[in-house]
Amino acid sequence: MYIYQLKTYHLRVINQLKNTKKSLFSFEILPPLKGKSIQSIYDGIDPLIEFNPAFVNVTYHREEFIYKKREKGYLEKIAIKKRPGTVGICAAIMNKYNLEAIPHLICGGFTKEETENALIDLNFLGIDNVLALRGDPIKTETHFVAEKGGNEYAVDLVKQIVELNEGKYMDKNIENAAPTNFSIGVAGYPEKHFESPNMRADIRRLKQKIDAGAHYVVTQLFYDNAKFFAFVKACREEGIDVPIIPGLKPLESMRHISFLPKFFNIDLPSDFTDELEKCKDNEAVKAVGTEWAIQQSKELVAAGVPCLHYYTMGKSTTVKKIAAEVF
Ligand SMILES: Cc1cc2nc3c(=O)[nH]c(=O)nc-3n(C[C@H](O)[C@H](O)[C@H](O)COP(=O)(O)OP(=O)(O)OC[C@H]3O[C@@H](n4cnc5c(N)ncnc54)[C@H](O)[C@@H]3O)c2cc1C
Repeated sequence: MYIYQLKTYHLRVINQLKNTKKSLFSFEILPPLKGKSIQSIYDGIDPLIEFNPAFVNVTYHREEFIYKKREKGYLEKIAIKKRPGTVGICAAIMNKYNLEAIPHLICGGFTKEETENALIDLNFLGIDNVLALRGDPIKTETHFVAEKGGNEYAVDLVKQIVELNEGKYMDKNIENAAPTNFSIGVAGYPEKHFESPNMRADIRRLKQKIDAGAHYVVTQLFYDNAKFFAFVKACREEGIDVPIIPGLKPLESMRHISFLPKFFNIDLPSDFTDELEKCKDNEAVKAVGTEWAIQQSKELVAAGVPCLHYYTMGKSTTVKKIAAEVF
């Protein structure tokens, strides 16, 4: 009953992006650690509702493996899943807030059949937006290894979703298979993906995802708007004509200063680090980081970006401060 109501209210993200006259507000949350309740998700979303988010993304985290020593020196591979899945969380968010929830789907760890089953579940629940990603290599692997029978690159996942949108299911015996209607986002990298030999090669790979049927791009976080503007220009020159949404994350602690560049393969501009170096503690870093994100956001809005997408990592206090200044 409620699901039916959701279906009638919600708008596919691509329609929102195409029809908006001002920059929209959106954010990304992490599924909570295992053992926590859905309330921890609501606590992260509640403070941001007043800014009328267009959608909220929910990340997906792969299983991790550990090796335990057994008798006679054998090693047993044990899978640990730290966070619950995104499908249920997205359904709960849409149900509670009547807000578009976008699950992240990744190639890693899934066969195509498992991916199709996940898409069927999402479609059944009235969730028809997805962000299609490859996923990172897991800690025990030096490079990304696709699941046997799974998708190797995000472009392959996009193709699979498009096939379902055309009513082509893997199981050819399904009778009267209804086409799905997923709006598909993909990732882009203003400072290039770490595995890519150069920016142009990476943008050509991005173009392949769009040509395969992706509808819009959400970028990796960045702190230098000039790099984002150059990226958008290069994408347009390559023929990528879909909306490109900048991803922003406020820098909030001393640890972030080295962690964020290392983890996300990005640079912090020297004007920014000059200011950060003057900071004596985390509070001071947070104040500088918040102000930087506000200025970045204002400049991006002035440039007419379709939406600003904030990585909250489950903590909404700083993003709330930024949104209050920008939206
Ligand atoms: C907005 C955003 C959200 C994210 N959310 C998540 C998440 O929820 N969970 C998660 O695990 N990770 C997430 N990530 C991280 C992402 O999974 C990694 O950055 C991953 O390493 C690449 O994913 P992709 O979809 O960009 O891959 P792809 O587009 O497949 O690209 C991966 C690399 O392969 C290259 N490439 C692409 N196609 C080919 C080809 N045919 N032949 C050779 N090379 C090729 C590309 O240039 C690039 O270097 C997110 C990233 C972003 C930007």
